[in-house]
Amino acid sequence: MLIRVLGSAAGGGFPQWNCGCPNCRGVRAGEPGVTARTQESVAISADGDRWFLLNCSPEIRQQIESYPPLHPRGPRHSPITAILLTNGDLDHCLGLLSLRESHPLVVYTTDRIRRGFTDGNVLYRTLDRFPGQVTWRALQLGKEEDLADLDGRASGLLVEALAVPGKLPIHLEAGATPDSRDSIGFRIRERSTGRVLAYLSGVGAVTDTVRGALETADCVFFDGTFWSGDELPSLGLGTKRAEDMAHVPVGGVDGSLARLNGLGAERRIFIHLNNTNPLLRDDSPERARVEAAGWEVAFDGMEVRI
Ligand SMILES: [Zn+2]
Repeated sequence: MLIRVLGSAAGGGFPQWNCGCPNCRGVRAGEPGVTARTQESVAISADGDRWFLLNCSPEIRQQIESYPPLHPRGPRHSPITAILLTNGDLDHCLGLLSLRESHPLVVYTTDRIRRGFTDGNVLYRTLDRFPGQVTWRALQLGKEEDLADLDGRASGLLVEALAVPGKLPIHLEAGATPDSRDSIGFRIRERSTGRVLAYLSGVGAVTDTVRGALETADCVFFDGTFWSGDELPSLGLGTKRAEDMAHVPVGGVDGSLARLNGLGAERRIFIHLNNTNPLLRDDSPERARVEAAGWEVAFDGMEVRI
């Protein structure tokens, strides 16, 4: 399985347009050891021919252009076979609206996440201009199924959706009751080799289900949004703690680095990094700590083969 990181930053990207935190200023000033990143999206393929996107960021056009295997191979064509969504946050699904050029799309996610995007959304009409413009395939929690193209041809990859502690997107919070299908992670297995990618880019807490999903994976991508719970307040950037936004911090005694100690995966990678995270600095003590523990920090253009 080939895994290509198209975008590795959390919502807002790095630097974020309205942020003047030390990291964002550092990127703009060209400081060494800090590299710009686009918002999270990852492309995977079993055969190098048909590709699946994990999340579809607002920067999807630029991300597709950045990677030639995703370019068209005919006058009207895309090697992007389907798109999988982990939740309804705009940094994960807004890019769908940018793929509106009359191209049939296949999207895998839960019914809850689909409805959160389509119901009452007048902009969704741009993806509903002809029958079959978008084919939604509903993922059931805990049930593995083939990832297939529009015609139902299996790709050699199978996906299982897992409930992860999360929260509703901010724009859907009012009046809605949270549900275990609002926020998911994926276990993606290659049929021919049995190799498994666990992809959990937004995780509010390390539960037994979360830990169990990672135990037998060959490669793990995990929520690296914040280093500490009070990262934003400590920089004077509002009052919300990481936990208020359903992201378990990486550092600290209850952080993911400590709670996921001892995982056997040969590659363990933090992704979905907020622009304030000290892990974004190549020479930070926090970066040294995660690397000493065998973890990596995702960057745009990173490639992993398992
Ligand atoms: Zn910033």
